[in-house]
Formats: sequence, structure tokens, C-alpha cells
Amino acid sequence: MKKPLLRIPYTDKLAPPTVIPATATTLAGAIAALQAFLGSPPLPPAPASSSHSHSHSSLLRPGRHPAAPAPAPPAAASDSTLVLSGAGLSVASGLADYRGDNGTYRLNKTYRPIYYHEFLASHEARKRYWARSFLGWTTLHKAQPNAGHYAVRDLARYGAKVTRVITQNVDSFHPRAHPEIPTLELHGYLRNLLCTSCHREFPRHVFQDELARLNPAWAAFLSEAIASGALDTENPDERRARGMRTNPDGDVDLPDAPYTTFRYPACQQCLAHPPLAADGSQHTVEVDSDGAWKGTSSGGILKPAVIMFGESIPAHVKVAAEEAVDETSRVLVLATSLATYSAWRLVKRAKDRGVPIAIVNMGGVRGEESFFADLPDGQTGAKGVRIDMSTEQLLPELVKSLRRSSPEPQIPHKPLAQENAEAGVFKDFL
Ligand SMILES: [Zn+2]
Repeated sequence: MKKPLLRIPYTDKLAPPTVIPATATTLAGAIAALQAFLGSPPLPPAPASSSHSHSHSSLLRPGRHPAAPAPAPPAAASDSTLVLSGAGLSVASGLADYRGDNGTYRLNKTYRPIYYHEFLASHEARKRYWARSFLGWTTLHKAQPNAGHYAVRDLARYGAKVTRVITQNVDSFHPRAHPEIPTLELHGYLRNLLCTSCHREFPRHVFQDELARLNPAWAAFLSEAIASGALDTENPDERRARGMRTNPDGDVDLPDAPYTTFRYPACQQCLAHPPLAADGSQHTVEVDSDGAWKGTSSGGILKPAVIMFGESIPAHVKVAAEEAVDETSRVLVLATSLATYSAWRLVKRAKDRGVPIAIVNMGGVRGEESFFADLPDGQTGAKGVRIDMSTEQLLPELVKSLRRSSPEPQIPHKPLAQENAEAGVFKDFL
């Protein structure tokens, strides 16, 4: 029996990286190294060993995988690149990277993310969470994928053989920017809510309207804050300078409507049909006269469809990620310090298989020396690359270079309007 995989924050300081190969300190050198990496030969097929009994690849959207029966495909055969991305890729979309250069939470020193067990156990903690989420949502909803996400799409078009993306980000930018390349969202997604009792999912944007209806003083405050531009920044000092009332934690504190009065809806399905609890008893789901969840309830609690800190990654997601690692020829890590173990272990797993690893990230990466310690002298990137640059700067240039050597797109373009027709986008507001 394997241990459950918990999502936990990592707060140790990270050492600055050693650039590999040494020529990759310049833009041209970095592009040359990555082209060597992307052209590295696939591993010879490995004998099928601990293959899984059935494939979970359908999780890697768009999921056109028929429910193929066993046997599972042999590990490693096709020539393919797996992209693993993190928060740094979304910074250019205006979404904050929670970790600064020294690996600490940089926006708000006293900020502490809510843990799953707290969210489940405490009505008060949920009030605070949803009040923060209510204020943050508008900014997230307006945010768009950036050049880094579209560069991932274009890498696939111009010969980089990107066939899958695993992201730790919960903003849905990858599936929006490249719906034709399957994306596994390792830590879930903010575009939906998930009922902790009946496990149904509901769209977040509908919930936002319900929060506004149940909390008119907060809705008025939100309108005011949007008009003042205070929500255009996540820096608490700048927000205060723009007239937004915040306490020393950076939290909004409304004198007329404190957190303790914030209201949130119950799961409508569970309200209509109270489900059974794990012990076989029937859940109680009660709401006030406006439809807000009441503390006398035992079920029907909605949570964001993200993996919160302290929460286990669902087994089927974990297995799908492992399968993607086991079937790829190389792993390209973009804009993440691999601070969460769930992501780090995937790169370690690839390394243990002998798969070349390339990491593009500003600043240090957790345990990165173990990914590159055994590289032969003089290798130019085919066996491993470490670049200390922003993806926003590097990736579009890499695409241009690939495009010169592979001018015909290998995946047909779709009209932009169609690409952007996906559901709304939200930021992790843990
Ligand atoms: Zn429910």
C-alpha cells in the first residue's frame, strides 16, 4: 500500500543553479542547448515491468482515448517531450508567483495558506477563504494565457514533439492556450467547485454571483475596489495606498461586514437530496432563508476543485502523471522550483528511468543537483540542460529558432477565437 501523496508547501531556501551546459548562460547558448535536448534520441524501449493494469491517459485532456483494455503499452517507445510547468509561467499573466528568489512567500510575510483539514472542519475558516476568494476572483477571471503558454503550443507545432503537459498551476491557462495538447492539472483547477459530499463539480463563475447575492456589503466593496484599481495589485501596501482597507495580514476587513458574517451557498444537489456520510448515516444539509449554508449542516460543503495544501492528490491523477513520465523520451521543466513534492518526484522518476531532463527556471530548484550530477563532460544539452532564465524571455525565441528549421507546422492551427472559447480562468487563491 503506497502512502497518500499530500500537497504541502516547501519553504527551505534553494541554492542558486549551476547552468548546464556552461554555454547556456546567453540566450543563443540556451537556445542551442535546448535544441540539442529536444533532438536527443528516445530511450530504447524498456521491458514492461510494473505497468499499470489499465490506462488513465483519458485524464490528459482532451481525452480522446477509448477505454482500451489491458495490456498496457510498453514503457518508453515514442519520441516525445513531456512539459512540466509551474507558477512562474503564469507570472506574465499577472498572477503572482508565491515564492520569491529565496524560496519564501514574498508578497505577504504573515500569509499562511489554508489547509484542507481546516477548510473541511471549520465554518469560520471557510467564511474567510470564500471572502478572500470572492475578492480575488474578478482579477483571475480577466487574466489570460501569455506568450509562455502559447510558446508551449508552438513548440509542439515546430518539432519539439510536446505531446503532453503536466502543470501544477490551477489557472487553466495551458488547456486554454493549447487545447490540442492534453494537459494534466496535477493540483486541480479553480474554474470549478467540487462538493465534498456528493463530489459533483459546479462552475465557479456561477458561484461568484451567488456570493455577491449573499454578501451585498462585500459586493459593494468589491465594485469600489475594482474601480479604484486596488485589485490590480496583490501587494498589500499598494492596495492600501489605493484606498483599500486591509489589516496587517493584507486581508480586507470590512467594519460593517466582518469575515464572521460572510455567507456561502450549499451544494444544491446535496440540499435537494442529502447524501449518505461515510459511516452510512444521512448528512444534514440546511440553509438560511437566502440559501446560505448553515452551521447545523454536516454535508453539502463546496470547495474549490484544487488540491489544497494537506490534501491528497487523487490516485487516478497520480497514476496518470506517472504514466506520462514513464512514456516520455524527455522532460522539459518550465518555470517551477519543484517546491511541491508531487511535482519533484515526477522529475526524479524520469531521472531514475534515464530520461534527459531540462529545467528552465529563474533561481534555484529543489534537489536539482541530483538531476544533473552524472552528466558526462562536454555534453551540449542532449543529456541535460539547466537554464536560469525566464520562460517568457526564452521560449518565444526558442520557437522562432525551431520554426526556422521546421517551417511547416506539425499540428494545424485553430482559429484563435476557438482556442479562447474555453471556460473562464481563475487563480489559486489559497
Ligand atoms: Zn453535493
